[in-house]
Amino acid sequence: MAAAAATAAGAGSTCGILEAERRKGSFPVAALTDLFNGGAEASVERKAIQQLALDAELRKYDAERMMMSRVDRYKAALGSVRRVVQLAEIHGLDDKQRALLRNEGVPDALPTDLHDLAFVPFLAAQATEDQAAAWLDDARAYRILGCYAQTELAHGSNVRGIETRAVFDPDADGFILTTPRSEARKWWPGNMAKTATHAIVMARLIVGETDHGVHPFLVQLRDMESHMTLPGIELGDIGSKLGMNAVDNGYLCLHDVFIPRFNMLAKFASLDADGSYTKPAHAKVAYAGMISVRASLIKGAGGFLARAATIAVRYALQRRQFNYAQPNCAPEAETPILDYTMQQYRVLPLVATAYALKFTGLWMESLHDTLVAQMADGNFELLAEVHATAAGLKSLTTSLAGDGCEALRKSVGGVGFLVASGLPDLFSGYVGVETAEGENFLLTQQTARALLKALQTAVGGGALTGSSAYLERFAAVTGGERWSPTDGDAVADLAALVTAYEHRSLALTVATAQSLQAAIAGGKPYVEAWIEAQVEAFRMSRAHSFVVIVRNFAQLFALYWMEVHAGEFLDSGFVSAEQVVWVRAAVRKLLGVLRPDAASLVDAFDYHDCALSSAIGCYNGRVYERLIDTTRHDPMNAPLDDDEPSPGWREHLKPLLLRSRM
Ligand SMILES: Cc1cc2nc3c(=O)[nH]c(=O)nc-3n(C[C@H](O)[C@H](O)[C@H](O)COP(=O)(O)OP(=O)(O)OC[C@H]3O[C@@H](n4cnc5c(N)ncnc54)[C@H](O)[C@@H]3O)c2cc1C
Repeated sequence: MAAAAATAAGAGSTCGILEAERRKGSFPVAALTDLFNGGAEASVERKAIQQLALDAELRKYDAERMMMSRVDRYKAALGSVRRVVQLAEIHGLDDKQRALLRNEGVPDALPTDLHDLAFVPFLAAQATEDQAAAWLDDARAYRILGCYAQTELAHGSNVRGIETRAVFDPDADGFILTTPRSEARKWWPGNMAKTATHAIVMARLIVGETDHGVHPFLVQLRDMESHMTLPGIELGDIGSKLGMNAVDNGYLCLHDVFIPRFNMLAKFASLDADGSYTKPAHAKVAYAGMISVRASLIKGAGGFLARAATIAVRYALQRRQFNYAQPNCAPEAETPILDYTMQQYRVLPLVATAYALKFTGLWMESLHDTLVAQMADGNFELLAEVHATAAGLKSLTTSLAGDGCEALRKSVGGVGFLVASGLPDLFSGYVGVETAEGENFLLTQQTARALLKALQTAVGGGALTGSSAYLERFAAVTGGERWSPTDGDAVADLAALVTAYEHRSLALTVATAQSLQAAIAGGKPYVEAWIEAQVEAFRMSRAHSFVVIVRNFAQLFALYWMEVHAGEFLDSGFVSAEQVVWVRAAVRKLLGVLRPDAASLVDAFDYHDCALSSAIGCYNGRVYERLIDTTRHDPMNAPLDDDEPSPGWREHLKPLLLRSRM
């Protein structure tokens, strides 16, 4: 009875707070949700799939899951995969709907994610028609499960340094795959250690004395009946990680494994039976699969940050601390922490960032769709531009999302350190993405190179197209142009903001080009000069990627990040110190404008409680009741056998505390 009274909603209950906050909203939430989902019909479909996920209870209770051993987590995750596939088959869901069900119902990384995210898109991009007919349907239906094996223990970013060999054997009409030394073992591929039956292995194609460089080969790893590794295949898990521990990232050694010539993925580069090699029509064509993965990651970044923002905003609306006017007031009369300017400054720009990333993700998806359609017709015109844009955006969007999640985790105070908040798991399960599929700092060099090339074209009088066309205005950097806003209101104008971001990128690109030229003119080899310019290259890539995002979204995002990077805007003299003061004031003003919409802004992301998996981020609030409830499920609080008062008491605590009496 006493326990029941202690757990009933008390005077400080947060019950009803979010409903009241929603009534303050100034826009129709559903319309915004429809925009993200791709229309009202898509929203209805998403709701139905959310309900399906909810009814099926795809995810095990959090506290229990966090306490599981790694092996049990892996097994539970496999159970989720199986259930998702079963449900998809029962309800006749297509691939996209199945992916939605997986995302809505199971927010953790799963040991089939790399199959969906890398293996299938890569196969679709690199397989010939015959190869696609042999494997793609089985892969899409989960009759075979694949992974993408590129990274080796000794070579990660340096893909050209990959040592795994695929030596052509003309007599057997196939390849012998070998790991030439222990450090050249494949190391990291997700799903590879225990789950995958097949792998796309990136290996050097060796024909006679000629090394044709790194190419993709489809290798079967396990027997389809027994799941035992095939002869010559040595597989294992690389160990526990910061997050994603239900995923079996693996190592692979290949000991003279034979595969038929048919298994070299040959849509772009191929090898005839007589050993004659046809190289790809376009130098960057091999990147097609990678671009597709990066486009998915760019799209995912917004959704990921949106989840963290939803949790942080809902908590900050319910959490109350202090009432400076009435220090002795009742708990419910204290101030919601989101009413403090500092909290608004920490949280609302990240809500805006989530919006910006979501819209940029949609933009990137449609650009990628156009690229795929054009390439299917043999047109590679867009490839270089999309490759450079995707590299820069993958780097920036996943960094903003990862850093943003950590900032939001800290913004909620101590509860952000509790697993029950959902934020630690969200963060640790995500940040690996900043390294995978192109390490985020190195990726910026690809974008920077493309920008310098575009600048060179523009300086030579050539016309530019695509996202870097603004570099044609290179003369503005030395022409003494100034940013146009003449008062505090004008700095928030979207067109003016785009100009400021473009000018920053332009100025950084011109400065990097000039310092490279000066170094080379001074006798430095290009490679040395480039290595010296890497920090500038990073900054210019980031500046350009910001241009792309700002064009896709507006005010608070652009103003806030302009304030954060004010130094770079001031450097070229385009923006004045007074204008930066106006930018700062505009950010503060927008925080106040957006505050009443905070609940609605995160509702519009439309993440169900099941996908948030957080005691402090639920749609109907009740943070304290939920937090107390999670303690009931924690194994540390489970009743013990034999009247033991607490775990380890008899074995360790009692002998320690009572040692003088024993
Ligand atoms: C969660 C996760 C999942 C992954 N999944 C897969 C997978 O499914 N398949 C797969 O094949 N691989 C996978 N990887 C591996 C991933 O692709 C590599 O980690 C990544 O390419 C970076 O390589 P590396 O870790 O060897 O780092 P390194 O290349 O050793 O880089 C280490 C550091 O040195 C810096 N550096 C390196 N070279 C330069 C340079 N030239 N100039 C300046 N700085 C430099 C980098 O910026 C980085 O900070 C995964 C990794 C993670 C973390």
